Amino acid sequence: MKIRSSFRNNLFLYYSAIFLLFTLFILFYLYKREKDYRIQTLNDELYNIAVIVNNFIKSNYIYENGNYQITDSLVKLLPQSNLRITVLNHSGDVLYDSFVHEWGNMENHLNRPEIRISQKADFGTAIRSSETTGQQYYYYSRHFDRYYIRAAVVYDVNVINFLKAEKFFLLVIFLSFIVIWLILLIIINRFSESITKLKDFALKVGNNESFNFNSKFPKNEIGIIGEEIMDIYNKLLKTKNDLINEREKLFNHLNALNEGVAFFSPDKSKIFNNDHFIHLMNMISGDLKIFSSNFFEISEFSAVSDFIEEYSNVEINTSDLPKHEFQVTRDGRFFRIQCVIFTDKSFEVILSDVTKIGKNKLIKQQMTSNISHELKTPVASVKGYIETLLNGLEMDPKKQKYFLEKALAQTERLTGLINDISVLNKIEEAASSFTPEKVKVKKIVKEVCQNFKSAIEARNIKVEADIGSNVSVKGNRSLILSIFQNLVENAINYAGNNTNIKVLVYNEDKRFHYFSFSDDGIGIPKEHIGRVFERFYRIDSGRSRKSGGTGLGLAIVKNAILLHKGEIIVRNKSGGGTEFLFSLPK
Ligand code: ADP
Repeated sequence: MKIRSSFRNNLFLYYSAIFLLFTLFILFYLYKREKDYRIQTLNDELYNIAVIVNNFIKSNYIYENGNYQITDSLVKLLPQSNLRITVLNHSGDVLYDSFVHEWGNMENHLNRPEIRISQKADFGTAIRSSETTGQQYYYYSRHFDRYYIRAAVVYDVNVINFLKAEKFFLLVIFLSFIVIWLILLIIINRFSESITKLKDFALKVGNNESFNFNSKFPKNEIGIIGEEIMDIYNKLLKTKNDLINEREKLFNHLNALNEGVAFFSPDKSKIFNNDHFIHLMNMISGDLKIFSSNFFEISEFSAVSDFIEEYSNVEINTSDLPKHEFQVTRDGRFFRIQCVIFTDKSFEVILSDVTKIGKNKLIKQQMTSNISHELKTPVASVKGYIETLLNGLEMDPKKQKYFLEKALAQTERLTGLINDISVLNKIEEAASSFTPEKVKVKKIVKEVCQNFKSAIEARNIKVEADIGSNVSVKGNRSLILSIFQNLVENAINYAGNNTNIKVLVYNEDKRFHYFSFSDDGIGIPKEHIGRVFERFYRIDSGRSRKSGGTGLGLAIVKNAILLHKGEIIVRNKSGGGTEFLFSLPK
């Protein structure tokens, strides 16, 4: 409001000052013209008088007879009041003065300015105060053949009289001032409306406050500029909001990533990092109090610094951004560190925990070597038996049969091993394509018992399945069969003779059935119990191999359960024996 009024006031002030100057100039000009005009009129008037006086002197032979006194009668006849007529000879002696009787005593007038001018020119004029009357007089002197005639009148062309005479003119000026002032008021109001709006806009935008964009600007140049600025501002605001939204989306996306991501400016100061970045930095450095600003102080990341340094003076083009990737391990975990340098030398660091991938790789390596080892043993045995048979063709048929049976047992072992490996592979493959079906668990257990009927009977094992016939789980039938088959087979092989196997559903919730599979046999020694689910892990490899075990049975069980999103644990029962507790989805 203050700005608005001062803007208007200033405009008024400037306008008034200019108008006043203009008026004064006009008045001065008019005054001067008036003055010039009056002087011209006076000169004409006084010239006529001088001519009349000259004619009078001539026709009455006054110069000859010196009877200037009679000139008084002429002066009285002239209409001008206060008219003073003076006649001087060419030496400056006063011959006659209508105001003075004893003119013979008057001083020489040759040095009077009007006389001096008229000596050279046709006439001379001067404005002076009369010593006789004290009034301002206008003197007009004309040079004649034998004398000068000087006529003087009271000089009244003064400012006061002029102003009095120009009352109407002043009134017109005043009225025009008012009219122009009113017009100006309207114009200024229109202009100041735009400027006030622009000012409000600038102040609000400056203070980050919202501005009412609906208010229209007046239709004038400043209004158009205002609308244009508003338009540009709106577009900028929209772009800014879009950018904020995009940024938000990007940050959400970055925060949702499993990787730690951070962007750094070329001088290595951090621009952005997601939460995961700090978490992974802490894990890699082993220091929980670290912040992203300490990144370059951590020795594990020194390779990143070296890499950045290497490219500090190299020009980078968009099509081939320099990338560097390396791995570090800490506390048995694997971390991948990637760095990408952009064209402006800012760079991105991505940290990822690749422990699972690293472990999987390790497991796969172990698996391959285990598998080849496991395969080598029976293949070598079969080879040995066949070689023996070939070398001893005359061999006792009983012996031959013995070797053939041995070879058969090894091939069966090989078949078992290959079966187990293929089941494990199937589980891994099924992870991507898995069509669940309803599987009745009691039926499965019955089927497994049927398969192992002779072994169960031979070892005098009792199987008790406390499962309702309507208990069903959702999953892959053959894998679920594998779970129970392996558990039953292990109980037969390791629990010992005369044992009892018990299968029951001990709990259920919305999503899962919880099963207990136990035997009352020898149990698993404490030091091994944590590792029995590992592939190829066997407690007593001799015994296990003898019983046809591959060390893959429980790995198959665990993987099959995990594939169904269930869980499994193993424990030794307090009264002896092993118990597996696991869940399968409904
Ligand atoms: P395998 O194919 O040799 O049977 P598993 O992975 O099935 O391998 O089992 C791993 C080891 O756990 C076996 O070598 C065995 O010693 C032990 N084990 C498994 N089940 C039982 C059980 N019910 N009672 C005692 N020991 C068991």
